Amino acid sequence: MSKTIIISNRLPVQLKISEGKLTAEPSVGGLATGLKSVHRDGDGLWIGWTGLMEEDTPEEMEPEIDKALAKLNCAKVNLNISEIEGYYFGFSNRTIWPLYHYFLEYTEFELKFWESYKSVNQKFADAILANANEEDTIWVHDYQLMLVPQMIREVWPNANIGFFLHIPFPSYEIFRTMPWREEVLEGLLGSDLIGFHTYDYERHFLSSVRRLLNLDVSFNDIYLENRVIKVDSFPMGIDYQKFENAAKENAANSEAEKSDFQKKLDEHKKSAPDTKLIISIDRLDYSKGIAKRINAFEYFLNKYPQFKEKVRLIILAVPSRSNVPQYQLLKKEIDELVGRINGELSTVNWTPIWYFYRSLPFENLIDLYTSSDIAWLTPLRDGMNLVAKEYIATRTDKTGVLILSEMAGSAYEMNEALLINPNNFEQQADTLKKAIEMPKEQQMARNMFLQNRLKRYTVEIWANEFMQALLAQKEGSLATF
Ligand code: UDP
Repeated sequence: MSKTIIISNRLPVQLKISEGKLTAEPSVGGLATGLKSVHRDGDGLWIGWTGLMEEDTPEEMEPEIDKALAKLNCAKVNLNISEIEGYYFGFSNRTIWPLYHYFLEYTEFELKFWESYKSVNQKFADAILANANEEDTIWVHDYQLMLVPQMIREVWPNANIGFFLHIPFPSYEIFRTMPWREEVLEGLLGSDLIGFHTYDYERHFLSSVRRLLNLDVSFNDIYLENRVIKVDSFPMGIDYQKFENAAKENAANSEAEKSDFQKKLDEHKKSAPDTKLIISIDRLDYSKGIAKRINAFEYFLNKYPQFKEKVRLIILAVPSRSNVPQYQLLKKEIDELVGRINGELSTVNWTPIWYFYRSLPFENLIDLYTSSDIAWLTPLRDGMNLVAKEYIATRTDKTGVLILSEMAGSAYEMNEALLINPNNFEQQADTLKKAIEMPKEQQMARNMFLQNRLKRYTVEIWANEFMQALLAQKEGSLATF
């Protein structure tokens, strides 16, 4: 019987070894939730890295780890420190990530990173070849594994392979600067179906394929000698119910059941009832435009001083890739900016910015989403931006205003949000004012549309639609030749 194989850099499992004891907990991220039905009991296998370095894993524990993973329908690829350095922190996060997010100045073209990327991709492909067979359906995820589809295709010419890119695909003019551009495209073209979040990413990819490989492209089909590859967009959704339910529970909590964090937010609201709370939540990543947002906030307060003491910006910056130099510099820049602005503008009663550099437990994330009046998300580039969707899902009374960068993939589906260009401070200052002053009825009318759309296209539907398209593509492709 054929099964479905999912392959991604990280497994959807939290593995911990503490004092020689192993624990394995399924993780609850969006992708894991969305793929639950695809990766269902007994019928699927998820292959990926456990997050444990080979050097930190006692050899005698390997069988126990394999057994614990097998129970969760997972299989591991072991990686050592030097592979993580070259493939993950190197090529994935210092070449592809900045390049695909249009940060050419941060992009490092290092041969040794590329060599490591190739050999680790081969390791992942080998894990598929060892754990699956040619009749299985294989779904490869994201920018860390772009060479895997072709590596499988070479051994299994009839395999059914899908690939989904979770980050943007840049325009040809950007993509073509990469020394290994043809190899990367050829790696991806091992797939039968290649999925992107938006039509624009799809278009950029097709244009690169046409211009760099001279292949025959018609609409969204790429013609090879003996195969047709379909390229399509599948905007990823969220587990809507999970966020809506959590927000409803949050609202129903008695005083005793509330989190300490919520109690503090409530206290603040009580002491300053006409102060608006603006939240911004992202990983601390240069693509998210956090420093620009803080500058734009200062610009806003200077342009509209009547809002001093009347608004507060809460910045939740989740630590990320902190051993990559640009991330360390950005952290320093944000620390200093927040310090300077708070130092200059604070009064006895008011601190303009509350800044949290940490990740919050799910419960507190919901506290933030539900307690705020405005969510202000200003990525300079973002494949999708799920925070925007999660914020809307938690607004169970339909109030709240979303200000969202038009550079986020999610902006394409969220036209009723206030869309802004994150480089335009004038526009953002005016938009913040508009959001603060927006009548409740208008907030509710906008959010009703947004919620209905997000409810319909959940992450589970996203996963199922991709799988259906992948199966259909295989059948169609066989019929054509
Ligand atoms: N998130 C989290 N912990 C936090 C803050 C955020 O797990 O303290 C989650 C958030 O709920 C969202 C994800 O991190 O699902 C961020 O996804 P997004 O698409 O916005 O950006 P990415 O980090 O994938 O670039």
